[in-house]
Amino acid sequence: MAVFSYLSKLLEALGVSFTLSMEYLLFAGTIFLFFYVWKKRKYWYFKIQQRFPDNKHIIREIKYSFFTVIIFGVVILPVMWASKERLTLVYYPVSKYGYGYYVFSILLMIALHDTYYYWTHRLLHWKKIFRYVHKIHHLSLNPTPFSAYALHPVEALIDVSIIPIIVFTIPYHISAVTIFSAYTLGMNVSGHLGFEFFPSGFTRHKIFKWHNTATHHNMHHRYVKYNFSIYFNFWDRIMKTNHPHYEDTFEGVIEQRRAGAAMADDALDPLKINISLAEQEKVLN
Ligand SMILES: [Zn+2]
Ligand SMILES: [Zn+2]
Repeated sequence: MAVFSYLSKLLEALGVSFTLSMEYLLFAGTIFLFFYVWKKRKYWYFKIQQRFPDNKHIIREIKYSFFTVIIFGVVILPVMWASKERLTLVYYPVSKYGYGYYVFSILLMIALHDTYYYWTHRLLHWKKIFRYVHKIHHLSLNPTPFSAYALHPVEALIDVSIIPIIVFTIPYHISAVTIFSAYTLGMNVSGHLGFEFFPSGFTRHKIFKWHNTATHHNMHHRYVKYNFSIYFNFWDRIMKTNHPHYEDTFEGVIEQRRAGAAMADDALDPLKINISLAEQEKVLN
């Protein structure tokens, strides 16, 4: 009997990993196909770095993503069991604390994750850890939607640990965590998209400047020692870790977009803001 019970739990765990992989593959895959295959030429001017990464990099990203999803499943499954057994701060129905709290709880999860991400990311950049763990993610110098989950297993574990932290600290409705997870995935994939769609002036606007852009994280992949935050530009501004040329680079990307749209396709030059691969290698080592 016990064997069957373990077997069914194992199948359930595989089911969670499978569902996560399907969601991720479908989401990142669709976005990848749209921007990197189907509309490659149409949105070329929006590309932050004016070149596409080699296939070998994309294959590496997908390979690491596969392990990341398995680790996510292994951590999320016990959280789901604990949730079912009411061992966490789960509550039903939504009306128990009202819709005001429901929305607030999602914003709280996002704010908590924003802080958690910034500080664990800083830790991952600590020299002694970086070369063994986080360097894997930084092998993507020109990120694609698949870079989002291209993580060393230890980093994947650190990343997904926000879920157990949330369910034991914030009273939550299960659908609030689902919305939070979808938001995280969406922001993570768009941050690694490699294309900038925000308008000129965004990073200098008194309200919008607090929200990160695709250029912000794209610069983190190239310059490594700056731009550690995920959703908001709050911690990077407070800790003075924003790249000193962040705003100018953003405007440069917008300018290139404007100029590119007015140019013939074959007259495009690589972006001036790119640093050479050799230079990037130096930064990484
Ligand atoms: Zn990093
Ligand atoms: Zn990244």
